[in-house]
Amino acid sequence: MTPTTFTDVAIVGGGPTGLALAVALGSDGVDTIVIDRASPDAQPSRDADPRVTAIALGSARFLRAIGAFDAMEAAGQPIFDIAVQESRSPFGIRYDHSEIGDEPMGWIVENAVIREALLARAHELSELSLWMPAAYISVARDETGVDLGLEDGRRVRARLLVAADGKFSKLRDRLGIVTHYTPYGQTGIVATLGHAEPHHGLATEHFFPDGPFAVLPMPGNRSSIVWALDDALAKSVASLPADQFVAEVTDRVGERLGAVELLSPVRTFPLVLAHVEHLTAQRAALVGDAAHGIHPIAGQGWNLALRDAAALAELIGETAPLGLDPGNDRLLARYARWRRLDTTTLIAVTDGINRLFANDATPLRLARNLGFALVDRMPAAKRLFMRHAMGMIGDLPARMRAPIL
Ligand SMILES: Cc1cc2nc3c(=O)[nH]c(=O)nc-3n(C[C@H](O)[C@H](O)[C@H](O)COP(=O)(O)OP(=O)(O)OC[C@H]3O[C@@H](n4cnc5c(N)ncnc54)[C@H](O)[C@@H]3O)c2cc1C
Repeated sequence: MTPTTFTDVAIVGGGPTGLALAVALGSDGVDTIVIDRASPDAQPSRDADPRVTAIALGSARFLRAIGAFDAMEAAGQPIFDIAVQESRSPFGIRYDHSEIGDEPMGWIVENAVIREALLARAHELSELSLWMPAAYISVARDETGVDLGLEDGRRVRARLLVAADGKFSKLRDRLGIVTHYTPYGQTGIVATLGHAEPHHGLATEHFFPDGPFAVLPMPGNRSSIVWALDDALAKSVASLPADQFVAEVTDRVGERLGAVELLSPVRTFPLVLAHVEHLTAQRAALVGDAAHGIHPIAGQGWNLALRDAAALAELIGETAPLGLDPGNDRLLARYARWRRLDTTTLIAVTDGINRLFANDATPLRLARNLGFALVDRMPAAKRLFMRHAMGMIGDLPARMRAPIL
């Protein structure tokens, strides 16, 4: 019989959130195992995967603190300004990073780069083991720990089990945590564009009657689009021949970027809200999309996820030097309390924005334009919204706060 491996923390799911948490714990000297059913080599290459993530300043601080941000920064594009506009209306809000300080508001980084950077950092940490590919088949919890049985016969005994296995987490179901799924009836279209004119680090979000359309700057004269449309329309748009797809996109981007070409495959993602009833269970915690699946409208999903990872790592990091138990009830209750408000607020905000802009009734459209025009002339309100988007507000984990000079 294969002997049991003992560890402090076992993380199921080696996606961007599971890996970031593991790297934070490993950096703090906490013995950690990550189990993912996919092999790291099985991931799509950068050319095949057009997905990018907007990493807010607060998240970047955390990633830097755990030694994973240098490669992301080197291959990423700083966001200097953000413009939000209703369709082609002249009213809009322009957020300029210099109104807050001299740091960018965030960075656009390809998902493949994020993954490579986290894996590279993970391999440097002796307390961290990556079991990928590996699949668990049994989970048994008792008062002092969790036993995982793997398909290949290996066994793990952990003091804390973390579910980081994504929006449709099966582990969450096994832990008895109830999830409410609400399909948005929308699909997100993602693709990379090349363009003749520079973007100057400007990210834009246009709210068209058929759905929100974001253009995110990438290094060079490239941008990523994230475009949410009703499911049926998204299916037909995503399957257009490249020249017709580019014509539709050009119509929405306008003339700002000059001539546009398609540089990647067009990928689609069904958009579903996943709302969990609890963030913890006996000896277990949820992080990332396993803890909350939100609409990508504000580009906040992974930023919220990193706040989970940073908060949980901080609580465990406080106990580890004292030899205390990382899966004890008090720690888990503190984690759930700490993360509840941020999670429910972002679910409500992203859901609310999507509903507000999905309605094309004239009075609502006028009210939205008036709102944009007003906010654009209110520097204090603008700075507050910017700080929110940059992940600089709320009860932040220490590694996300501004360094004290
Ligand atoms: C179109 C779109 C655009 C987005 N843009 C942004 C953005 O700009 N900014 C932002 O912050 N967020 C953005 N997001 C959200 C972001 O992509 C997610 O929040 C993030 O990927 C969540 O990572 P995760 O590791 O929690 O989950 P996942 O990425 O789903 O990873 C889950 C991992 O668990 C593994 N797994 C699953 N089941 C098992 C199992 N049974 N056993 C072992 N392993 C398992 C999987 O192999 C995978 O590696 C966007 C999302 C979409 C759809």
